Amino acid sequence: MSVRQGAESRSFDVLVVGNGALGLSLALVLTRRGQRVGLLGQPHRPWAGSTAAGAMLGSFGEVTTSLVASQYGRQKLELGMKATAMWPEWLAALEAEVSGADIKTAEGTTVILNAIGTSEIDDANFAVIREELNRYEQPFEDIDPVDLDWVDAEPISRPLRAFQIPNEHAVNSAALLERLEAAFVKTGGTLVTELAAEVTHTGDQVTGVTLANGERLTAGQVVLAAGARTQKLLDTLPVGPRIPRLVSGYGVSALMRTADGTAPRSVIRTPNRSFACGLHVVPRGEGQVYLGATNILSPEPRVDPEMRDLVFLLQCAHRQVRRGLWDSEVAKVQVGNRPVSVDGFPLLGEGGMENLWIMTGTYRDGLHLSPLLSQEIAARMLGEEPTVDLDTFTPVRQPLQAWTREQVIQDVVDHTIGIGYEQDWTIPVDWHGWIEKDLRPATAAWAEELDAEFTPPAELLFLSRLSPEVATLLRDYYAVCRKNR
Ligand SMILES: Cc1cc2nc3c(=O)[nH]c(=O)nc-3n(C[C@H](O)[C@H](O)[C@H](O)COP(=O)(O)OP(=O)(O)OC[C@H]3O[C@@H](n4cnc5c(N)ncnc54)[C@H](O)[C@@H]3O)c2cc1C
Repeated sequence: MSVRQGAESRSFDVLVVGNGALGLSLALVLTRRGQRVGLLGQPHRPWAGSTAAGAMLGSFGEVTTSLVASQYGRQKLELGMKATAMWPEWLAALEAEVSGADIKTAEGTTVILNAIGTSEIDDANFAVIREELNRYEQPFEDIDPVDLDWVDAEPISRPLRAFQIPNEHAVNSAALLERLEAAFVKTGGTLVTELAAEVTHTGDQVTGVTLANGERLTAGQVVLAAGARTQKLLDTLPVGPRIPRLVSGYGVSALMRTADGTAPRSVIRTPNRSFACGLHVVPRGEGQVYLGATNILSPEPRVDPEMRDLVFLLQCAHRQVRRGLWDSEVAKVQVGNRPVSVDGFPLLGEGGMENLWIMTGTYRDGLHLSPLLSQEIAARMLGEEPTVDLDTFTPVRQPLQAWTREQVIQDVVDHTIGIGYEQDWTIPVDWHGWIEKDLRPATAAWAEELDAEFTPPAELLFLSRLSPEVATLLRDYYAVCRKNR
């Protein structure tokens, strides 16, 4: 590693740390506004969530009973709706700056309720997506499952009901990132193809970053948008412990070349289930589809897929959506890390030190939110009037408690049992009831043992029971929260 000594430090108006969908979009919006922006990140985007994303532009497709049971969840849904409305103009502006192949790959989203799902999760989430579409007067249309375009599931996993959301499309994430980067460079932005090692500061004032090669960059403002790895940079700052910690929602997805050269026109997806984002197939151009995705929380971002996740994903896709995927080619296996804060909600806005901004924690739908969040954060940085309220998600905060402990325990039980059914567990009929009966008090006892006051979101409560590292991380964080009250 070469360390530059004595060289004059490069200086920018803004340094954006992280070249995923959020960092790139913000950097582009700021250069369009005449700012001198340095965008940091290695070209192959290690650990990124954006590169593995199916890039569904879904608001209602992501709705769950838990999401809308919480005021914070509803706020997130409404941010998603605003983002949906922005995509056509966002893509047109990109196209005007750098032309190329169509980034949009899917026309609408087909939501299916299939036989392998459970009533507690799938029936409930299928119904609540429709309720919310009605509540916000958004269009959708029922489809008879026998008329479903492209679906040919195994009989025991076949779709029982389905509807089409015409306004929730999908984009090709790789093409989007490429286009954003080209537009950023074209509008005068500077790519700094290195990792930031630390954020530099004098007292409470952030002054720039030190790169992994030792070079120091200075800037008027620094934005941390490094996905799940943002935690490493927050660890270098005094404000770090006061911000909900980030873990990774490690996920596996796959690109397939279909044996018969076909692809559906729209996204085909189940509701969210099994602590993950539902099974989905996204068209990726002629004869190609994207299969997604698993979601396993992990204290550190990951680079390689575990066999069990890959096997699970591929099996779910050919059994639940199209048997013909069985003899199709796996063109690429992708691994990504969703940035997940330990209260489950985004970290957006001023970072609690002068000149510091944070834009991460977007979990399952950061790519979809990127046009909205980039314009909103840019407006705040430029001292302009924002158009949406992001105060709830201000990074320096006590953990948002979106659900009661009882609701979280119920979610853990439902999703754990749901994973069993999706994986075809074969056990005597009455054992399901016994397992569920024991799982509930065991989870409740664990929640109490973990912390008497705070309860993390369901997937973290589940994980912390199995991972002492995660339990320690949560306990240490909750101790700091109590101290800072
Ligand atoms: C399998 C999967 C499927 C998904 N599907 C969807 C979907 O359909 N729709 C949707 O909206 N969202 C989806 N998501 C979620 C979405 O990917 C994330 O919410 C979003 O991409 C986060 O973007 P980001 O720019 O904040 O972070 P990332 O995409 O993680 O990018 C962070 C970047 O920062 C870089 N970096 C890290 N550390 C440093 C450092 N120290 N210095 C400089 N650079 C650094 C990394 O290399 C990376 O390129 C999915 C995620 C996964 C994993």
